[in-house]
Amino acid sequence: MFKKSNTKVSIMNFLSNRINKIKPSPTLAVTQMAASLKAAGKDVIGLSAGEPDFGAAPHIHQAIKGALDAGHTKYTAVDGIAPLKEAIQKKFARDNHLDYALNEITIACGGKHILFNAFMATLNPGDEVIIPAPYWPSYPYMVEVAEGTPVCVPCPSLKITPELLEKHITPKTKWLLLNAPSNPTGLLYSKEELAALADVVRAHPHVWVLSDDIYEHIVYDHKPFHTFAEVAPDLKERTLTMNGVSKVYAMTGLRIGYAGGPAPLIKAMAKLQSQSTSNPTSISQYGAIAALEGDQTHVADNLNKFEKRRQLIVDLINDIPGLSCALPDGAFYVYPDCSGLIGKTTPAGTPLTSDTDVATFFLEEALVAFVPGIAFGMSPYFRISFATHEDILIEACARMKQAVLKLG
Ligand code: PLP
Repeated sequence: MFKKSNTKVSIMNFLSNRINKIKPSPTLAVTQMAASLKAAGKDVIGLSAGEPDFGAAPHIHQAIKGALDAGHTKYTAVDGIAPLKEAIQKKFARDNHLDYALNEITIACGGKHILFNAFMATLNPGDEVIIPAPYWPSYPYMVEVAEGTPVCVPCPSLKITPELLEKHITPKTKWLLLNAPSNPTGLLYSKEELAALADVVRAHPHVWVLSDDIYEHIVYDHKPFHTFAEVAPDLKERTLTMNGVSKVYAMTGLRIGYAGGPAPLIKAMAKLQSQSTSNPTSISQYGAIAALEGDQTHVADNLNKFEKRRQLIVDLINDIPGLSCALPDGAFYVYPDCSGLIGKTTPAGTPLTSDTDVATFFLEEALVAFVPGIAFGMSPYFRISFATHEDILIEACARMKQAVLKLG
């Protein structure tokens, strides 16, 4: 005999509070509209992809195939195989003048997974993470999943200043998140700007810095790239330097990200990983070794391709009345200001009141899809990814220019 229970649970009650608390993405409506237009056979141009449109270099393919043939299909060490850790150790020394011991390096399933492990391993309910806006939209969601509180700080110059940082530090602040070259603006922090931020962090010993350097090698005009721990070596003990092979080596689907940081934090992140993914994918780790240690000429070739597209997209956007677009320092995004379109009226008589309206208008009128600034915490802007062929960028901007001419 079993005891019978009459308690029925709705799906919302079945899902965790942690998940129910997370708001749906503000871009969902635009994304869904783009998907249904595509499904209806419309020729929608998507300019929101956050990945290169070309594949990984042949020697990376070879390394992955070689790993497969050599039988590297078993579980690996929890946070990465020793040869990859050694390659990362050399990379940090070579590119960033940072010395990390092997137990200060961790490898996970993508840069996103590194961030997730870091937040899950450090945040208690109510702990705050300072996220300068505009920001990559995943940051606040990841902090919320880890039950922390994202403190999104709108930055009028699109970069956080020492004054803004100081103003938002509270006794509950755990992390300051820095990302440069930035997604969505492509902006870099200079050595001096990082040093000024370090002065503030130095004065608050409970605050740590998470430096997301995933676009490190996509920097134009030979501008120097600096990471936080390199500029403030005395704060290395409070810094997690995150990076990955996704963007620079066009390995997004292979899911390898890594970080250097204090050993106790690295150990805690590995503890979490041991009970979630067990390890980063075995064969992808061999691909990452080839990427970091192999021939780098394809990185320079890809950079040249991106650099041409950068100039093209900036010129094309600035040629559209009502839009103004700055030249990004790095990454493959532009973040045009669309305040010149706010207040205009569509042919259907609808006023454009926000960047979501602007994105919806371009989708409906020009069949061009991109992400409005609200998703990045800073309006009225939108983000265009130029990791796509020149002809597509030219066609998209021609359609957008035509559409703008219809606004009243
Ligand atoms: N950080 C930033 C700023 C990104 O734009 C992205 C991807 O879009 C990531 C991290 C995550 O990269 P990965 O594909 O390695 O998880």
